[in-house]
Amino acid sequence: MAIKTIITEPNEILRQISKPVSSVGNQERKLMDDMLETMYAANGIGLAAIQIGVPKRIIVMDISKDGKKNPMYFVNPKIKNKHKEKSTYEEGCLSVPNYFAEVDRPKYCEVEYLDYQGENKILKAEGLLATCIQHEMDHLEGVLFIDYLSKLKKTMIVKKLSKRKSNTDRIIV
Ligand code: ZN
Repeated sequence: MAIKTIITEPNEILRQISKPVSSVGNQERKLMDDMLETMYAANGIGLAAIQIGVPKRIIVMDISKDGKKNPMYFVNPKIKNKHKEKSTYEEGCLSVPNYFAEVDRPKYCEVEYLDYQGENKILKAEGLLATCIQHEMDHLEGVLFIDYLSKLKKTMIVKKLSKRKSNTDRIIV
């Protein structure tokens, strides 16, 4: 396993639409292992492959709170059912460091996907799990949570993030 670099906004890679995986083999499992290690190291609860620069429809998550690890793997996830009722969480994103905002999303959803072994599964998600899987699935479409905010707020966040980025690279010698 290896910890990868997480790509942060603004970066065109994050706006790519990820491609379906034809089958789950050792290469995909290695990618999922790396993604999980990267996510744990960054203290995140979800990560999409595109966030480490791989445009494949693969997500890892772990929303357990008691310190016991409970990794979840989703390959080619598809939402089958979305509830009309909404829930609101204050969301953050490993690709949008240090910013948080409230986002409304369907409270319940049903997701069909392939697991770590490549087996077809259906998950009925609600609450935090539903929000998290929907946030991660947005990444597969090149969508970030800041896209749900007002244009003004989004522009401000992106501007601040790019300033922070350029500051890191700037050297005066
Ligand atoms: Zn995210």
